[in-house]
Amino acid sequence: MYYKEYGNTGMKVSAIGLGTMRYDADDVSAGRFEKCAEIPLYALENGINYWDTAPGYCDDKSEIITGIALSQVKRNDVYITSKTNFNTIGENPTRDDFRKRLEMSLDRLKTDYIDFYHMWCMLDLQSWERHMEVLYGFFEEAKKEGLIRNIVFSSHMQGNDIETVVETGKFRGMLIGYNALNYRFRQSGIEKAYKEGMGVVVMNPLGGGMIPNNPEAFTYLTEGTDLNVAQAALRFVASHREITITLAGCTTKEHVDDAVKAVENLEERPAEEIIRQYEGRGESLNNLCTGCAYCKGCPKEIEIPKYMDAYNQYILTGNKKAIPDRLDNHWDIPKEKVLECIACKKCEKQCTQHLPIVDRLKEIGEL
Ligand code: SF4
Ligand code: SF4
Repeated sequence: MYYKEYGNTGMKVSAIGLGTMRYDADDVSAGRFEKCAEIPLYALENGINYWDTAPGYCDDKSEIITGIALSQVKRNDVYITSKTNFNTIGENPTRDDFRKRLEMSLDRLKTDYIDFYHMWCMLDLQSWERHMEVLYGFFEEAKKEGLIRNIVFSSHMQGNDIETVVETGKFRGMLIGYNALNYRFRQSGIEKAYKEGMGVVVMNPLGGGMIPNNPEAFTYLTEGTDLNVAQAALRFVASHREITITLAGCTTKEHVDDAVKAVENLEERPAEEIIRQYEGRGESLNNLCTGCAYCKGCPKEIEIPKYMDAYNQYILTGNKKAIPDRLDNHWDIPKEKVLECIACKKCEKQCTQHLPIVDRLKEIGEL
């Protein structure tokens, strides 16, 4: 296993982390938790010492299963995470609500402390600001008491918004989605976090299955390696100097083996070098929005990169249903907003990919 330093914490963590949201669904629903717990134990045997969990994962059983595994190993051998936000403790939580949630996670994980506790799933700056106002003090208090070791956040924001959060200096690390499909959305954010000495953990390195499900579009990632597309996509992320841990969601021991193989003899490189290498690769990707955000400044405040990202999913899958799915489940933005486009074409003039943005918005509007 390849290890990296988690920001400036001095913690040595595996380049692959275990995402615990994919325990076998049949085993989970049948209550075969000990069997599921074999996955983190096997991961640790193979050097994976960072286990990422949260309330709600696997029908809310992930923390329980992960705790069964954690109780069977030396506590110091593993770094464990969990998460909280308004969705888990209510819109106007009190200190007691926060503590009850945290204590439930500690209890389920059978531990006295959580190494990385996330302010979870900050969708935009506005939501982040409110979480800071209401919850950050509770996080700090729990940290002082030793219940959590590091305060971190997870986010779906774009690069420039992530930079704003990073600049506050309030967090030791962050968890963000980053992959061969969307990396331009977040590149500036990871570079900033790295420079500030933060750890950077990546979720969704396979683009929600989009990458392995469309192998021909991403074959270029495998060139010069003996890896399959999924492994090459993991390696693509893990090889960024700025990224500390790449999470791999594993259902079986084979998934663990695959993820471990992806970082064998890993070579770290700066993000800008990796991006230069892949810029313009893959014929079938030419019509994709790259997430560069040069089209910002729409007079109607339409968040164009997000709508174009949803359209990307359609290009890659050939299924129009992928568009509303992405807008609802990933970005959580209204589909009707696209109808406000006045076709001024300001965005198209700035688009680095020369995409027919107006037509695409119209198509989304017609769905
Ligand atoms: S064409 Fe539509 S989406 Fe583009 S800038 Fe004008 S109003 Fe906004
Ligand atoms: S400028 Fe074009 S490629 Fe860049 S984010 Fe906007 S729509 Fe996508």
